[in-house]
Parts: sequence; C-alpha cells; structure tokens
Amino acid sequence: MAIEPNLADYDSFSSSFSWEQEKSGLSGLPTGQGLNIAYEAIDRHANGTLSNHTAFRFIHKDRSVMECSYQDYKELTNRFANVLGQLGITKGDRIFSFLGRTPELYFSALGTLKKVAVFCPLFNVFGPEPVFQRLSRGDARVLVTTKDLFEKKIRQLLERLPELKYVLLTDADQDESIKIRSLPRLMEEASAEFTIPPTDPEDPALLHFTSGTTGMPKGALHVHKGVLVHYVTGKYVLDFHPDDVYWCTADPGWVTGTSYGIIAPLVNGVTNVVDEEEFDATRWYSILEEQKVNIWYTAPTAIRRLMRMNINPREKYNLENLRLMLSVGEPLHAEAVLWGEKTFGMPFLDNWWQTETGGIMIANFRSLPVRPGSMGKPLPGVEAAVAEITEGDLHIIKEPGKDGQLVLKRGWPSMFRTYLHDQERYNKSFHGDWYITGDLARRDSDGYYWFVGRADDIIKTSGHMVGPFEVESVLMEHAAVAEAAVIGKPDQLIGEMVKAFIVLKPDQHADEALKMDITAHARRKLGPAVAPKEIAFIDNLPKTRSGKILRRLLKARELGLPEGDLSTLEQP
Ligand code: AMP
Repeated sequence: MAIEPNLADYDSFSSSFSWEQEKSGLSGLPTGQGLNIAYEAIDRHANGTLSNHTAFRFIHKDRSVMECSYQDYKELTNRFANVLGQLGITKGDRIFSFLGRTPELYFSALGTLKKVAVFCPLFNVFGPEPVFQRLSRGDARVLVTTKDLFEKKIRQLLERLPELKYVLLTDADQDESIKIRSLPRLMEEASAEFTIPPTDPEDPALLHFTSGTTGMPKGALHVHKGVLVHYVTGKYVLDFHPDDVYWCTADPGWVTGTSYGIIAPLVNGVTNVVDEEEFDATRWYSILEEQKVNIWYTAPTAIRRLMRMNINPREKYNLENLRLMLSVGEPLHAEAVLWGEKTFGMPFLDNWWQTETGGIMIANFRSLPVRPGSMGKPLPGVEAAVAEITEGDLHIIKEPGKDGQLVLKRGWPSMFRTYLHDQERYNKSFHGDWYITGDLARRDSDGYYWFVGRADDIIKTSGHMVGPFEVESVLMEHAAVAEAAVIGKPDQLIGEMVKAFIVLKPDQHADEALKMDITAHARRKLGPAVAPKEIAFIDNLPKTRSGKILRRLLKARELGLPEGDLSTLEQP
C-alpha cells in the first residue's frame, strides 16, 4: 500500500504552519525542566513503546552488524554522561570526537548532550593541523579518539593544547596516565542510571566548524532548541513513518552527519543505519538491499560516482523497500535527478542548508512536483528571499528570475547562535532581520529556488567546505614557498578540486620533485581531504592594491573566463 506523505499539500500546510504547534511532537524534559536533544532522541522512546525498537544498526567494516535498541542507547549514553561527570566536566564544557563512524562516536555525542556539555565531532580524515585549529579554537576539554588516530595525529599536539584535560581512547584496555584514559574501562565503571539536568532550550549543544574565506575555521554554535527543526524536517522532508529504516551516508564530522545522521532519525523514532566504511558502489547497493532501507539521504559526489558505474542496481539488487532518496551538500544537477528516476524509479530530492542553519531550509518535498536542478521550496516556517546587497544596503528582489544573495529571515529554531569567540563576525552575517547565507540563488515564478554559486571563495570538494586561507597557511610553512593562493577548480566527479598557485622563494627551482615535496607536506599536515590535488608555480599572485589576493581572478584565468572588474588590481 502506498504510504501517504506527511506533508500532503505544501501551500495549505505552509500557510497554517507554526513552530509552536509543531512543538507538541516533542516531549520536553519531565516536570517541565526544559528541552534536551538527547531526551527527545533517546530517553523518551526508551521510556515508552519504542524501548526495544532498533535505534541504530552499525555496519562494521567487515560487514558484521551490531543492533542497538533505544533502551541500549539510553544506557550507553547514560554511562558516557556519568563518565564526563566523573572527570569533572560541567555544563558548557566542550567535548570533541575524532573518530570514524563507530558506536562510540554516536554514544559520546548523545551522552555529552545529556550532560548539557557541548559536542563537536571532527572528521577523522583531517590531518593534525586542521584538528589542532579546531581543538584550540573550541577550547576542547575532552577528546574521544582511537589509539591509532591518537598516535598518528594527536600526541604531537598535546603540548600546544594545555586546556585539553583528557583523551579517552575507545580501544585501549588500560589507562596510559591520568590524562590518557581507556574509555571502555571508564564506561564499565560508570553507572547506567543518569538523570538529565534541567536544560534551557537556549543552552549550547553542538559546535560545528565551517570554513571562512579570510580566516581560520569558524565555530558555529547551536542550541538544544534546534531539535525542533530536526524533528520537523525529519517528519516533512525525510518523511519518516513508524518502522522506517533510514540511511544517511554523511559523516558526523560534517553537520549533515550530526543533524541527519544522529538527531533527526532518532527524534522521529526510526531505525538509523550507519556504515563505517567509505564509499563503495556495490557495498552501498547491497546495504540498501540487505538493510531494507526505506529512506536514503546522500550527496551529489556519491551520486555522480554511482552514475559512472556500469551497474543497473534494480537488476542486481532487490530495492523494493526504497521509498525516498534525497541529496544535499552541493548542486545536484538535473541529470542526476533524472538518472535517479530512470535507475531507481524515483528522483533524488535535492535540498539546501548549511552549517549555520543547523537543519534543512529549502527542499523538494515528496508531495510537490520536482523541478530537476532546483533546490525546491522553503521549509514551512522559514522565510527565504533573494537580495541585492550593496554598500551595506539590503534590498529584497521581489521579481522572479533574478540572481542575488540567498538570505533567510532570522529566527528559525536551529539558527546558529554565535561563531565561537567571534561575535563580530556573527553580527556581520546578518543584515537587520536577514541572515546572509553566502550563496547566490534565483527564485522562479512558482517559488522554487535555484542555486547559482557561492558569493565568496570557499571551496566545496566532495561536499566538504574548505577555506582557502587554511590551506594557504599550511603551504606557506614549506621552506620553499613565498606565497600561495588556493581556488576551487570545477571537477566532474567531486564538484571542485583544491588547486594551489605557488610563488617560490627566489633561490628555489620549480620542478616536479619540489611539487611532490610540497604536496606531501600539505597532505601530512592537512590530510588528503583538504590538501591541494593540483599545484601550479606562478611568478606573481594577482592582488588588490590593499594586498588581498584576487582568487577570483586566478580562477577566471584558470578557466578561461572573463576577468571582470580589474580596477583594484595592483600592477606588478
Ligand atoms: P556546509 O556548511 O558544509 O553544510 O556547506 C553549506 C554550503 O554547501 C551551502 O552554503 C552551499 O554553498 C552548499 N550547498 C548545500 N546544499 C546545496 C544544494 N542542495 N545545492 C547547492 N549547494 C548546496
């Protein structure tokens, strides 16, 4: 029998929508003690009819599967919250993870939220430098990681991180010292009973770093109230129904993997599949089949990889349970949407949001006709617009079909509350009532939004944000490098690749060996996900008269595009 979408009529639903009304789908802490994400995600289900329902299905690298019920997860997260208590962690302290997609990552996240501490997951493919930047800027008190990652990337940083009090190793049998502890031992000794303390909906909960153009990564801080957006988008965009099996392929090191790889499915009481392994087409298809996945949330880079393979999944795999496929993170081109229709019998539903928004803001909904290539329409309760911003003035463009800056009316529940230690930058991202997303978009006459590009130099590679400044800083550390500039170069598979232009010091010889040496340095420091894939030596970097690197000009030259306004260019 066909399953009716939770949102049957977009227009009438939008006109009567209120966040206040949707709040009735959440429980709130018992005896009116506030709102806590972990309670909404785990405890209320564990205390009710979903106690034995599967919350997580972890697929390990070797394909063995571990199932955890909501009750199991309640106990694990209680234990972790007690471990933090025993270590003296208090409200607001920041707990980081640097892990693959293992059960420890997921129980640390929710256990931290129970303790009303702040959780910050880091992508485990980062090299030591991006990890250091984030741990120090985020004032990390506790880091949860593995022995291997610790030895390779963390131990060398400890001296530079005096505020980091504990490292909890998920696979160590014994403590190494007071500071470097065995997590399994601590978990075993901790009680499985825990009462979540009163939590104000405005208490900080999650910290996600995102890249900036001019400085080091910015820490976007989110609060417990954001769970309302996770609940609402889970219900109306991901269209969760009871007994659904859901798979989000994103890593929690990026915001999608937390908001939609942990919180939204659990808050809606469905079963959440987590695969520890990286992308592999046949593995992915067989997971969809074996786990009987109903709803699949993935990203354009992965979809493009699947499109390249000579596999017709419906011939080889039984995918009859699959009901909905969604995509986020980069532009999803019309061909990919149509390929979904041809290959799976349903389109990929594109949706748009970003670290700062905390949850999906614009989406193609099941009940709306899909316009291939469009990001869809604003979430009910969210006001989006296209604006022209000139010299501090913001003007909303009412006419359809015009390009402008994508802006959102301030005040949706999962809106970030600050950039950690950088309130000024936070303030600058608003203009009056409007939050400026940094993206360029267009709205058509039927209210669908179309992505046009970024308004800044930030690079999206394999769906991950990379800030040019962070990469340039590491390149400059190499003894042969005088100056560096980094751009995103369009790539058919990964969206954009990181390309670096390097000016060498006068005594250096530009040859392949040096290129390889600089590449190796960048990979060691930044990790392969962030390091440049291409390097070019250049005599001078184009700069403005005030000395700012004109990355957009390097990009235009690289791509053979018009060079645009060069009035501020400094003539060498
Ligand atoms: P992040 O903060 O890492 O999640 O990256 C957010 C950015 O990714 C957005 O500001 C966009 O530039 C891009 N993005 C996310 N979703 C889409 C989409 N559906 N279409 C085009 N770009 C997207």
